[in-house]
Amino acid sequence: MIRFVLTCEREHEFEVWFASGQAYEKLAESHAIVCPHCGSTAVRKAPMAPAVTRTREASKSQDTSERKKTYAFLKGLRDHLQANAEDVGPAFPEEARKIHYGETEPRSIFGKASLKEAKELSEEGIPALPLPPLPEDQN
Ligand SMILES: [Zn+2]
Repeated sequence: MIRFVLTCEREHEFEVWFASGQAYEKLAESHAIVCPHCGSTAVRKAPMAPAVTRTREASKSQDTSERKKTYAFLKGLRDHLQANAEDVGPAFPEEARKIHYGETEPRSIFGKASLKEAKELSEEGIPALPLPPLPEDQN
């Protein structure tokens, strides 16, 4: 078996295993190799080293902008919570349950829960949204 990194006309990269180099040539000639991303059959072997570098750089800048977007989203969500919900701190799982079972007045709350507690809440069908710590919390 031999592994080739292939790229299609739209610069999607993907890996395919072939029985041999000749098997690849044959399949490529008969356009039997399909890009899994866009379905294009215009694929060719990706130049190995530059492809790796390019992919890394591309995914790095993508990561950064994705992270910024995620950060802005989380920051907005948190600001919204702080303005509109009650901070119940570590009592969160208990309060969330009380609200869910109608033992206290329904309202928006936020607070702290361990992974285990959050899992238990979701198993009970109680909607709880995990809010990961923002970079500024770690300072
Ligand atoms: Zn493609």
